[in-house]
Amino acid sequence: MHTLALTDRTHCPGCRTASPPPVYRAPLREDPLRAYLLDFYDGRLDVDSLEGDFTLVDCAGCGLLYQVRVPAPSELPGRSTPWHRSST
Ligand SMILES: [Zn+2]
Repeated sequence: MHTLALTDRTHCPGCRTASPPPVYRAPLREDPLRAYLLDFYDGRLDVDSLEGDFTLVDCAGCGLLYQVRVPAPSELPGRSTPWHRSST
């Protein structure tokens, strides 16, 4: 089971405007997000290791709706992680 490293965006990934207050926030380790993550990752993710909230914000600069808490750069493709699936 994988422990996912997370980081918070401080600015919009589209236009770099500072992140505004959230339009939606819910704890990652509580339902409904806990149930969703357990189902989506099918036991590959240690949901109890996640800290903080799932947070959505609506950018005042460009209107992009984006998630503040995202996987850290160390979790992104290019590394071998449990999220990669073989195509064969
Ligand atoms: Zn923006």
